[in-house]
Amino acid sequence: MSEYKISTKCVQAGYTPGNGEPRQIPIIQSTTFKYDTSEDMGKLFDLEASGYFYSRLQNPTNDYVAAKIAQLEGGAAAMLTSSGQAANFFALFNICECGSHIVSSSSIYGGTFNLISVTMAKMGIEVTFVSPDCTPKELDAAFRDNTRAVFGETIANPALTVLDIEKFAKAAHEHGVPLVVDNTFPTPVNCRPIEWGADIVTHSTTKYMDGHGAAVGGAIVDSGRFDWMAHKDKFPGLCTPDESYHGITYAEKFGKEGAFITKCTAQLMRDLGCIQSPQSAYILNLGLESLHVRMPRHVENGQAVAQFLEKHPKVSYVNYPGLPGNKYYETARKYLPNGGCGVVSFELKGGRTAAESFMRNLKLAAIETHVADARTCCLNPATSTHRQMTEEQLREAGVPSGLVRMSCGLEDKEDLIADLEHALEAI
Ligand SMILES: *Cc1c(COP(=O)(O)O)cnc(C)c1O
Repeated sequence: MSEYKISTKCVQAGYTPGNGEPRQIPIIQSTTFKYDTSEDMGKLFDLEASGYFYSRLQNPTNDYVAAKIAQLEGGAAAMLTSSGQAANFFALFNICECGSHIVSSSSIYGGTFNLISVTMAKMGIEVTFVSPDCTPKELDAAFRDNTRAVFGETIANPALTVLDIEKFAKAAHEHGVPLVVDNTFPTPVNCRPIEWGADIVTHSTTKYMDGHGAAVGGAIVDSGRFDWMAHKDKFPGLCTPDESYHGITYAEKFGKEGAFITKCTAQLMRDLGCIQSPQSAYILNLGLESLHVRMPRHVENGQAVAQFLEKHPKVSYVNYPGLPGNKYYETARKYLPNGGCGVVSFELKGGRTAAESFMRNLKLAAIETHVADARTCCLNPATSTHRQMTEEQLREAGVPSGLVRMSCGLEDKEDLIADLEHALEAI
């Protein structure tokens, strides 16, 4: 499949039925798998043979879909997780342990920010946040001897900053550690971070990949390019024997292409069990089959809505990397030549009162905390997700009370603009 274009991979990669087999990927709704002899099963437990024994670790349905996502991102191997949160946690925890340190872009999803700065801190893993706009020198200064990974989001949710992937990859590699990029918003249709130097790519498949607001899920893709053995002292989990697997050394036995995902499955999934259900993987695959058709429409609608809002007298500013005046316009043109995503944010001149009235008067766009599915939705953080904050705190956090985040779905852009026009008039 690797020779095909991304659209063809969206439709067909990951699963090729044999003669007389189901055309659509089968949902293997089974917790366990049967073997003829104990020796046969023993080989699986020793990682001597590949196969399935328990759906807490691996399931064939998930693996079809993971194989598709690996091909879409141009990676060597992939796995599905129960959520995007689990994907980011597993990707980092697979190479970090108590005493490790992470360098992360400060412009990331709130859930990931909490995960890294609060929950992982309790495990003894420290973080230094850097601005995505930092100079190479400032970035370099954030590294320590115990740094084990660099993290960022291609397009940050919700700030919509665009990551200079090459800058972050270069710094990571100079310090002998991998760059992990959360590519949820652009999806591999609009950006493939591995082509720009990222080593590990993560996804909340809950967003555009599923694309219908139907199933929570996550994915981790390994490029297979990072040379763990060349930095043996930094990654003992991959480069020294795992006693819980009879002394297997993942990086030796599975090489650069297989070590990361094999360890993540055999160890983290075994012990933590955050696997996606085969039902959800099946739903995710239905979404992936049309991802290449849907993304250009999300971008078209996002761009049209942003351009409309930019000219509106009741709007003080619009944040969308596809607008020529945007701070990230040039970075977006480089990494996202076909556009980024359908999420736009903007501030209403009338603050909280204006936002409340605007939200109340929307007809098509629903009020939701979700983003990135087929139906357009809007959120005013000041009166929902951030409602515990004072006006001053909101301003400091970059979410003024008149801010609205809009996720443009797949509807007709003229209807979306008419909906906005009406709600803006009503303020
Ligand atoms: C939503 C989101 C997550 C978390 O994903 P869940 O599937 O909700 O756990 C992580 N990263 C980004 C960029 C997201 O938008």
